Amino acid sequence: MAALTDLTIAQAGAGLDKGEFTARELTDAYLGAMEAARGLNAYIEETPERAQAMADASDARRAAGNSAGALDGVPLAIKDLFCTEGALSTAGSHILDGFRPTYESTVTQNLWDAGAVMLGKVNMDEFAMGSANITSHYGPTLNPWKASSGDNAGKDLVPGGSSGGSASAVAARIAAGATGTDTGGSIRQPGAFCGIVGLKPTYGRCSRWGVIAFASSLDQAGPLARTVEDSALMLEAMVSYDPKDSTSVDLPVPNYAAALTGDIRGLRVGVPAEYRMDGTPPEIEALWQRGVDWLRDAGAEIVDISLPHTKYALPAYYIVAPAEASSNLARYDGMRYGLRVDGEDLTETYERTRAEGFGHEVKRRVMIGTYVLSAGYYDAYYLKAQRVRTRIADDFRAAWDSCDVILTPTTPSAAFALGEKQDDPIAMYLNDIFTVPASMAGLPAISVPAGLSSDGLPLGLHLIAPAFGEETLLRAAGVLESAAGFTAQP
Ligand code: GLN
Repeated sequence: MAALTDLTIAQAGAGLDKGEFTARELTDAYLGAMEAARGLNAYIEETPERAQAMADASDARRAAGNSAGALDGVPLAIKDLFCTEGALSTAGSHILDGFRPTYESTVTQNLWDAGAVMLGKVNMDEFAMGSANITSHYGPTLNPWKASSGDNAGKDLVPGGSSGGSASAVAARIAAGATGTDTGGSIRQPGAFCGIVGLKPTYGRCSRWGVIAFASSLDQAGPLARTVEDSALMLEAMVSYDPKDSTSVDLPVPNYAAALTGDIRGLRVGVPAEYRMDGTPPEIEALWQRGVDWLRDAGAEIVDISLPHTKYALPAYYIVAPAEASSNLARYDGMRYGLRVDGEDLTETYERTRAEGFGHEVKRRVMIGTYVLSAGYYDAYYLKAQRVRTRIADDFRAAWDSCDVILTPTTPSAAFALGEKQDDPIAMYLNDIFTVPASMAGLPAISVPAGLSSDGLPLGLHLIAPAFGEETLLRAAGVLESAAGFTAQP
């Protein structure tokens, strides 16, 4: 039999149902694997006792014939942006040192209600700002993959970010699945870099309550998992209508796994001209074309579409997201949670706390954000960016007249080496060139592992669907996954 940690969530659930192993055995296998893989620095805090207690409770439920469903007894990693009661919740920041919330985020509570087991809290870029998991106060997380050739052969690679700990843990088989959050690409890009599936749901589908805020009009929780089916199973448990989040949407929760029919005959797949950007490496273009061929061969109709404002998405994002972040992060003043560095008076205490508590990237965003919101520049930057955002959403709305999903690459490159792009924020921001437009429009999107780069590293293909079109998204992703037949492992 395969190692327990090699099983997908669906396979683990089936094995638990058949009594082939217990949730406790499965959990202990993960706890052992986590210990052996500590060099990846994927976990900020492991919670083995809680995991074992949750696993025992799951076994007791199954023994009594009361299984809570597909996730009952399945061990998961939780991004450190989610508040988890009594467990460290730091957003990867020094300023939240020692913060142990007295409450549980809605999404994680939903997962525990579905019987899932918490293995621990995973590393991330500080306040989810980044694309390489290098801005964490807890140090970088490594990608379990290594390049087999090329300039980066044998070097330590980044897992992508900001949900780098989540993606690394799932790829390294030290979690069966993980929660992530995506503001501009932070589930999909690390998913692609680590050779796993990353799904960002429609804005409003998962509650943001108890998720430490970065940019509230963009933040969305979602699953990282090894298969499309696993993503569907996790998503179904994570989604709920939550009156505690005013942007939560009250719609029925579909059986997402049932959407994986494998049948996309007649589905119209849009290929946006504006995503053919100068400087995109030929192997990314080639992978994209293979994706088009796979979907066409499966019976989809390929449609050329235009999303004219695509090139403005990234610049507009880097105004809107920092603006919201500067406001959201104003609460970290040393008075309520985490770090406090005392000064001579109150003002100096604020200043010292924030100076020591925030890292460089967070400070850069706070400064950009306060600048674009300041009286003299508000119209020129913030308001203009909001107008651009509306245009981007309009582009997609028009596109849905002629297509049902949109296919693009997930990232312009495979995972890069630790240390690369570190001193060049613009190069780092360009990682999200293909993922940010869907974020600006609030649309659901998914990255599916689709092939290997010439250096032997995973590459992803990206599908975008209309708002609340997760079922169509998953159906198309399932077909892409089967066609790609990606079985490589780190
Ligand atoms: N890399 C992007 C940023 O730094 C997106 C991050 C995210 O989605 N949380 O803002």
